[in-house]
Amino acid sequence: MPRQPMTIKPAGHADALRMLGRVCREVREGEPLRKHVSFRVGGPADLLVVPRSREELRAVVTWLFTERVPFVVLGQGSNVVISDLGIRAIVLKIGKGLDRITLDGDRVTAQAGAGLPHLARAAALQGLSGLEFAAGIPASLGGAVVMNAGAHGHAMMEVVASARVLMPDGEHILTPATLGYAYRTSVLQQRPAVVAEATLQLQRSTSEIVRRRTEEWLAHRAATQPIGPPSSGCIFRNPAGDHAGRLIDLAGGKGLQVGGAQVSEVHANYIVNTGAASATDVVALMHKVNALVAEKFGVELEPEIKLLGEFEPA
Ligand SMILES: Cc1cc2nc3c(=O)[nH]c(=O)nc-3n(C[C@H](O)[C@H](O)[C@H](O)COP(=O)(O)OP(=O)(O)OC[C@H]3O[C@@H](n4cnc5c(N)ncnc54)[C@H](O)[C@@H]3O)c2cc1C
Repeated sequence: MPRQPMTIKPAGHADALRMLGRVCREVREGEPLRKHVSFRVGGPADLLVVPRSREELRAVVTWLFTERVPFVVLGQGSNVVISDLGIRAIVLKIGKGLDRITLDGDRVTAQAGAGLPHLARAAALQGLSGLEFAAGIPASLGGAVVMNAGAHGHAMMEVVASARVLMPDGEHILTPATLGYAYRTSVLQQRPAVVAEATLQLQRSTSEIVRRRTEEWLAHRAATQPIGPPSSGCIFRNPAGDHAGRLIDLAGGKGLQVGGAQVSEVHANYIVNTGAASATDVVALMHKVNALVAEKFGVELEPEIKLLGEFEPA
């Protein structure tokens, strides 16, 4: 008989809690996810599972895949909007404890939970060039590999040599040829996969040169993007040959507000949480901005951020 996917609530919840509790020390029920995402919006997870070692991660993911339990992966949560209803599935958070960095010549290997700015600093100290663009991107390495995060005309696809990825049929080493990289996307966004580790190929330079470039780009970021209020970075993907922020600005979107969500006055492709925004506010504002740009320029903007959980259709 074909195996049925396990539902988390109500039947499978106790099983999942018991089984995951055996292989992972940190399993929390009904954890508010707003504490785990940069936007500071969103409801609870049925179960939040936080593996703190390679062994725990492997055991958790193997069990989830084997039992076909639905789950969502979270890194630093800086590119997501989580529904106010939360996530009716297991949320697997990859961060502390899975953040070891190893330098070997001009290659850096790190676990998926390593912070990208931390990694960029470690490389700079060794005089390794290639990650300067990443110093200001609030990301885990895993999230950055999946999203092909980038800035200043550079992106992860230029430095990723390989990624160790857990999939339903086991562990795979993916290379740029199989990662399907393009602007802010990879094949990992389309299939069940958990990035456990990645190796980056950098170039030898001097720490002075690398540090200077890093500081220039950090200063540019500070001058052109909102620093401070919670956000998820750029909301929309740039349409071919243009910038979503430019279109939103020209369409009069800056400052537009729904509830506690506001289009940033500093950078029109950012929505900021002015204090009491809900995920519903954020999504309603996204629709408003999209309608504005479509009306003025005939361009349909596509979200760059990932909406997790259930949202009302537009
Ligand atoms: C202030 C600010 C500035 C930003 N600036 C930039 C920028 O300049 N350039 C840019 O590209 N982005 C930027 N971002 C967006 C964000 O930092 C990137 O998209 C980043 O790559 C997200 O990493 P994360 O660890 O937070 O991933 P999350 O937001 O936690 O997850 C993003 C996606 O990746 C998946 N995922 C995360 N980790 C894993 C894993 N280990 N295995 C499998 N799937 C995983 C998640 O399921 C989700 O679909 C910015 C965000 C903020 C808040």
